[in-house]
Amino acid sequence: MSDAQDEVFCCDTLKSVVAELPEPVAPTIYRADNGVMMMVVGLAQTEEGLGYLDHAILHCPFCGTKLQDAKAIAEKVSH
Ligand SMILES: [Zn+2]
Repeated sequence: MSDAQDEVFCCDTLKSVVAELPEPVAPTIYRADNGVMMMVVGLAQTEEGLGYLDHAILHCPFCGTKLQDAKAIAEKVSH
Protein backbone atom coordinates (compact mmCIF):
# COMPACT_ATOMS: atom_id res chain seq x y z
CA MET A 1 0.00 0.00 0.00
CA SER A 2 1.25 3.46 -0.85
CA ASP A 3 0.28 6.97 0.18
CA ALA A 4 -1.32 7.46 -3.22
CA GLN A 5 -4.26 5.39 -2.01
CA ASP A 6 -5.39 8.25 0.20
CA GLU A 7 -6.34 10.19 -2.89
CA VAL A 8 -9.57 8.29 -3.31
CA PHE A 9 -10.91 9.18 0.11
CA CYS A 10 -13.22 12.17 0.10
CA CYS A 11 -13.91 12.22 3.83
CA ASP A 12 -12.58 10.80 7.07
CA THR A 13 -15.57 8.49 7.46
CA LEU A 14 -14.92 6.64 4.23
CA LYS A 15 -11.21 6.52 4.96
CA SER A 16 -11.76 5.06 8.42
CA VAL A 17 -14.17 2.45 7.14
CA VAL A 18 -11.63 1.23 4.63
CA ALA A 19 -8.61 1.55 6.88
CA GLU A 20 -9.95 0.09 10.10
CA LEU A 21 -11.14 -3.24 8.88
CA PRO A 22 -10.84 -5.94 11.51
CA GLU A 23 -9.08 -9.07 10.35
CA PRO A 24 -9.97 -11.57 9.16
CA VAL A 25 -13.42 -10.16 8.49
CA ALA A 26 -13.94 -9.55 4.80
CA PRO A 27 -13.78 -5.92 3.81
CA THR A 28 -17.08 -4.34 2.91
CA ILE A 29 -15.38 -1.51 1.09
CA TYR A 30 -12.05 -1.99 -0.56
CA ARG A 31 -9.95 -0.79 -3.42
CA ALA A 32 -9.47 -3.32 -6.17
CA ASP A 33 -6.14 -3.96 -7.83
CA ASN A 34 -7.29 -1.91 -10.80
CA GLY A 35 -7.89 1.09 -8.56
CA VAL A 36 -11.66 0.90 -8.52
CA MET A 37 -13.35 1.39 -5.16
CA MET A 38 -15.60 -1.58 -4.56
CA MET A 39 -18.22 -2.43 -1.97
CA VAL A 40 -19.16 -5.97 -1.03
CA VAL A 41 -22.93 -6.19 -1.13
CA GLY A 42 -23.33 -9.87 -0.53
CA LEU A 43 -21.68 -13.20 0.09
CA ALA A 44 -22.39 -16.43 -1.69
CA GLN A 45 -21.22 -19.94 -1.00
CA THR A 46 -19.98 -21.51 -4.22
CA GLU A 47 -18.32 -24.78 -5.13
CA GLU A 48 -15.02 -22.94 -5.18
CA GLY A 49 -15.53 -21.39 -1.77
CA LEU A 50 -17.00 -18.20 -0.42
CA GLY A 51 -17.77 -15.78 -3.20
CA TYR A 52 -18.20 -12.05 -2.94
CA LEU A 53 -20.78 -10.05 -4.78
CA ASP A 54 -19.34 -6.61 -5.07
CA HIS A 55 -20.29 -3.38 -6.71
CA ALA A 56 -18.25 -0.39 -7.70
CA ILE A 57 -18.85 2.70 -5.58
CA LEU A 58 -19.73 5.71 -7.68
CA HIS A 59 -20.56 8.04 -4.83
CA CYS A 60 -19.39 8.05 -1.23
CA PRO A 61 -22.17 6.51 0.91
CA PHE A 62 -21.26 8.87 3.75
CA CYS A 63 -20.89 12.32 2.26
CA GLY A 64 -22.15 11.86 -1.30
CA THR A 65 -19.00 12.96 -3.07
CA LYS A 66 -18.67 11.53 -6.54
CA LEU A 67 -15.72 9.22 -6.39
CA GLN A 68 -15.67 7.49 -9.70
CA ASP A 69 -17.12 7.69 -13.15
CA ALA A 70 -19.12 4.73 -14.38
CA LYS A 71 -17.55 4.95 -17.80
CA ALA A 72 -14.04 4.93 -16.39
CA ILE A 73 -14.85 1.90 -14.28
CA ALA A 74 -16.30 0.07 -17.24
CA GLU A 75 -13.03 0.59 -19.04
CA LYS A 76 -11.05 -0.79 -16.11
CA VAL A 77 -13.27 -3.76 -15.36
CA SER A 78 -13.53 -6.46 -17.94
CA HIS A 79 -15.66 -9.53 -17.63
ZN1 LIG B 1 -17.08 10.76 1.65
